[in-house]
Amino acid sequence: MDRNALKSLSYGLYIVSSYKGDKLNGQIVNTAFQTTSRPPTIAVSINKDNLTHECIVASKVFSVSVLSEKTGMKTIGTFGFNCGRDIDKFKEFEYRIGITKAPIVLTTALAFIEAEVIHRVDLGTHSLFVGNAVAAEVVGQGTPLTYDYYHRTMGGKTPEKAATFSGSDAKTEGPHGPSSSYVCTVCGYVYNPATGDPRRNITPGVAFADLPQDWTCPVCGAGKENFEKQ
Ligand code: FE
Repeated sequence: MDRNALKSLSYGLYIVSSYKGDKLNGQIVNTAFQTTSRPPTIAVSINKDNLTHECIVASKVFSVSVLSEKTGMKTIGTFGFNCGRDIDKFKEFEYRIGITKAPIVLTTALAFIEAEVIHRVDLGTHSLFVGNAVAAEVVGQGTPLTYDYYHRTMGGKTPEKAATFSGSDAKTEGPHGPSSSYVCTVCGYVYNPATGDPRRNITPGVAFADLPQDWTCPVCGAGKENFEKQ
């Protein structure tokens, strides 16, 4: 089987949120999609190890925020590469509590959908939750963020617990060779001096050692101390 065929599937990028008791949590998901029109239903695939999974099982509700292309790496890092058991992910973001009581991330969101779970399909590592959409709203204007845009334009990586993780993301190597590239041990992002970090004005040619001390991983926000020579 050529797993590259699976990589040609296209996706969007969303934040799926839920709650359990007083705890709010959310995570980045690329596997969210409408499943029927009448009634409108929506499905999300969530790793069983994730706190969001625990929340959806407990509350039987979830929200899906559709992110825009303007979404910053801070949002991706907080919701995609951190665990809600360690931090309050919502602290620095705009959100509201929906009619299902699930939190809804509004920062750089174009729209959201709230759903009540009607089916849970056990997929081994993940659960597929299918929900009845009970509320939906357009909250912003712009272009929805796609998985392709995230990878190609934003230089984003796929976390290991994602439904579509392929294992090859962190293995990229720049023209300077492995000795000058540094890999983020948190998310797998590779700093390659040949490309720099143009989104934060680090021009090509800047060695890892010469990056400012307060420079952080553009994908997950980890500090320089979390990088290892590749
Ligand atoms: Fe990182």
